[in-house]
Amino acid sequence: MNIAFFGLGNMGGPMAANLVKAGYAVKGFDLSPESLVAFREIGGEVAETPAEAASGADVVISMLPNGQIVRDLYAGEGNLFGQLMPNTLVIDCSTIDLSTARDMAEKAHMEGLVFLDAPVSGGTAGAAAGTLTFMVGGEDAAFERAKPVLAHMGKNIFHAGKVGCGQLVKMCNNMLLAIHMAGTAEALALGQANGMDPKVLSDIMLQSSGANWSLEKYNPVPGVMDGVPASKDYQGGFMVDLMLKDLGLAAEIASQSQQDTPMGDLARSLFGQHAEAGNGSLDFSSIFRAYQK
Ligand code: NAD
Repeated sequence: MNIAFFGLGNMGGPMAANLVKAGYAVKGFDLSPESLVAFREIGGEVAETPAEAASGADVVISMLPNGQIVRDLYAGEGNLFGQLMPNTLVIDCSTIDLSTARDMAEKAHMEGLVFLDAPVSGGTAGAAAGTLTFMVGGEDAAFERAKPVLAHMGKNIFHAGKVGCGQLVKMCNNMLLAIHMAGTAEALALGQANGMDPKVLSDIMLQSSGANWSLEKYNPVPGVMDGVPASKDYQGGFMVDLMLKDLGLAAEIASQSQQDTPMGDLARSLFGQHAEAGNGSLDFSSIFRAYQK
């Protein structure tokens, strides 16, 4: 099976590398020469143009920064959709806006192609280890075709529903993650400011009704938990700027569907102020710092 891979950055690079390792013939394209060099070094074939990468591909995968770039690649001037073989499976793993995902699926369908939106969770560590979670939207048959390929890059592969449902799940999940991370940081900062040891407070809350993923797996207070970004000066992990991007996409869905998300809006404002204060490239659990006097 021939795979064309677009976007060999922090996520796409290691994802494509796992496909090469699994024995697929992978042709990669990226605008950044450094990404292409790194891809060649791990045994990938580098294409000079998107059309060259796509020629002869049975499966096309993209892992790009945003919806506009995805739109430009597939349906813009280059019109990649128009150059693919009929029935080619196109899997967009980028985190993008819902309307672009749905529009791309429609345009792909008009060209006789099959499109899935398949955003991921698990970050760069999950991409490198091949343990990502995929949230896939699209037809049953397309999902079944994609599954064996995705299985080389991820551990949990969920069929979320029809096209766009992958992006919807990703936005709902990340909005909730931002809310409970901010809430967890707020509670821990309140306890600490009043003399509580944050480790003791965390241990007790973990066995009480305040328990949640941020507290259990990703404690935001430095030194409470080994190996998490909070204990590494908030380096690595999931950047505040990327969380803000996802909160913006969630807000867009909320506004388009006239659904109120007051908690999501508040989280977006908190993380926005935090980024403006110069913390955009830190891990998102650094929101704890915003609560420290
Ligand atoms: P990145 O900036 O490291 O990589 C994006 C790559 O796309 C870059 O190498 C860039 O040169 C390339 N690119 C841009 N325009 C292109 C084009 N027209 N053709 C080919 N290549 C092009 O970003 P990333 O962290 O790898 O994120 C990629 C996607 O994954 C984003 O949608 C992001 O929201 C999502 N995501 C990221 C993480 C994470 O932890 N980094 C986690 C989950 C999801």
